[in-house]
Amino acid sequence: MKKKGVVLAAVAVVILAAVIVCDSLFSKTASDTFLAMSTAVSLDITGISSEKAAEQIRQEIIRLDEKLLSRTNGNSEIYAVNNGEAKISDELILLLTVLKEIEQESGGAFCIGVAQLTDLWGIGTENARVPDEAEIKAATENCYGWTIDYGSKTVHMPEGIKLDLGAVGKGIACDYACKIASDLKCRESVVAVGGSVLLDGTGKKTAFKVGIRAPLGEANEYCAVLEITGGCVSTSGNYERFFEDENGNRYHHIFDPSTGYPADSGLLSVTVVTESGAISDALSTACFVLGIEKSMPLLQRYNANAVFITEDKEIISTFTSDNLEITNDSYTLGEVK
Ligand code: ADP
Ligand code: MG
Repeated sequence: MKKKGVVLAAVAVVILAAVIVCDSLFSKTASDTFLAMSTAVSLDITGISSEKAAEQIRQEIIRLDEKLLSRTNGNSEIYAVNNGEAKISDELILLLTVLKEIEQESGGAFCIGVAQLTDLWGIGTENARVPDEAEIKAATENCYGWTIDYGSKTVHMPEGIKLDLGAVGKGIACDYACKIASDLKCRESVVAVGGSVLLDGTGKKTAFKVGIRAPLGEANEYCAVLEITGGCVSTSGNYERFFEDENGNRYHHIFDPSTGYPADSGLLSVTVVTESGAISDALSTACFVLGIEKSMPLLQRYNANAVFITEDKEIISTFTSDNLEITNDSYTLGEVK
């Protein structure tokens, strides 16, 4: 009896070893780039089923954008919600529930009810302008009033409020990509959707090195390198989309819903790392609005880490110095005060 057990265990070890060897021998990397969610998406997936995974991820991200999250595509659920009390899918209910919770946990710094405000300012469009106080008040006073009716599966929207998932869609796309890659047992996945990147290194022996962009530099200029074993990395910054008025005042696209104006918390960018892309993306926006000190409880609540870059070019991080290296002399390492 004992001998039989030993033989079975040995067979199991041999099978496991064979699976590992096959996986590394027959793994290949599939890469793809395409446009979705008004940004560039790039995929590098390694595994035996990498091509299948890459194709499924592409289709899934396009579906998410067109059918669920876009507020301009007439076929999407968010479009329907913004244009009447449409019945929504369980999939969207689940996502909106998470986003309502982050709205509350961030003390309202993150709020998807800002669509009217986004439209009013028009930042990134040719209609960008500074709205007047009355317009700002009308666009913000009810922005937290959207609620999910779980019985009728609808979203109740106060007069004049619409939903904008621009701050979180790219992170949500990373979560969907992660699920597909892991279901298909991929060894390594790097999926970049605009400012959100999924790094999944299940079968990878070394850590990922992530460049943190120098906010005042060119698009390919970095100021620090972060070493992590995996997770989702999202960056929000005031350098991506902004306009300048005739007096040279700069207005960017991340709003403080409590004022209706672009957030002014002394930061140039915030990079948040956590397991979930939806959460890292939402938190990068929330932390940009909150500033460093007020972000700390929120980061702890979601088991997230962050790298803040201040207007004084200080890099302040919740990572240890073993994980973060400053690579640009114009930036210095600061501490949380
Ligand atoms: P990006 O889209 O450039 O990656 P973010 O993830 O920070 O940057 O999202 C910014 C977008 O989110 C804005 O363009 C707007 O659509 C929306 N938004 C702006 N302010 C807020 C906010 N306080 N809470 C939620 N969404 C916001
Ligand atoms: Mg974001």
